[in-house]
Amino acid sequence: MSLVVKNLSVINKDQSVLFAPVSFSIDPGEILTLMGPSGCGKSTLLSAVAGHLSADFKYKGQCYLHGQALNHLSPEKRKIGILFQDDLLFPHLNIWENLALAIPEQIKKSQRKELAMLTLEKLNLEFIACSSPAQISGGQRARVSMMRMLLAEPDAVLLDEPFNKLDKSLRAEFRSWVLALLNERKLPALMVTHDQEDLPDNGRSLIWPWRDIENNNKESEHA
Ligand code: ADP
Ligand code: MG
Repeated sequence: MSLVVKNLSVINKDQSVLFAPVSFSIDPGEILTLMGPSGCGKSTLLSAVAGHLSADFKYKGQCYLHGQALNHLSPEKRKIGILFQDDLLFPHLNIWENLALAIPEQIKKSQRKELAMLTLEKLNLEFIACSSPAQISGGQRARVSMMRMLLAEPDAVLLDEPFNKLDKSLRAEFRSWVLALLNERKLPALMVTHDQEDLPDNGRSLIWPWRDIENNNKESEHA
């Protein structure tokens, strides 16, 4: 199930171009890294793919997931998970409730709780099930956010500087855990980062000013 972006460009309200058309394709289990200076439009590109683009912008181009065109689908129907640097857990819900809420509604309510608890057990975090997000550590919140995103059963994942707020000691461990999970689930992932250290081994990256990498990287691999 690949994530394909074709000639995507974003234009400001005043018609100035935020970024020129960019195309890329991300295979299942592959992570494409997006690097560039602050303000160059990395988060905006992710928003356009996820369907959350602010009304202050207009986009051109097309995104496909598993061959299906996404442009006219609501963000919910796109089945794209997003992980931000802030955990965005609901402060008024406890940890298992935060997890259960992400699980698709077709699954019975009692099963959703069971699944949330099972997820925490697998992480050896069952003891925080009834804590509120404010009562647990930053590292625990980061793990819970990642699991919450995966419990929603996304078909692709967008990560916007997901390791930024963690201290150095936690960062490396969390990073390898996240990258391993994405690989295991065979999800295509697009990740924004500032840090060269976040780049996965053998991963491709798109560096500002972005250009069409559809063929570029793949050609150089065979050079
Ligand atoms: P990055 O993630 O690369 O730091 P962003 O995509 O957040 O950059 O922002 C790109 C540009 O768009 C910046 O100049 C920013 O100020 C502007 N911008 C971001 N969000 C909005 C918005 N909702 N409305 C108008 N301009 C925005
Ligand atoms: Mg950003």
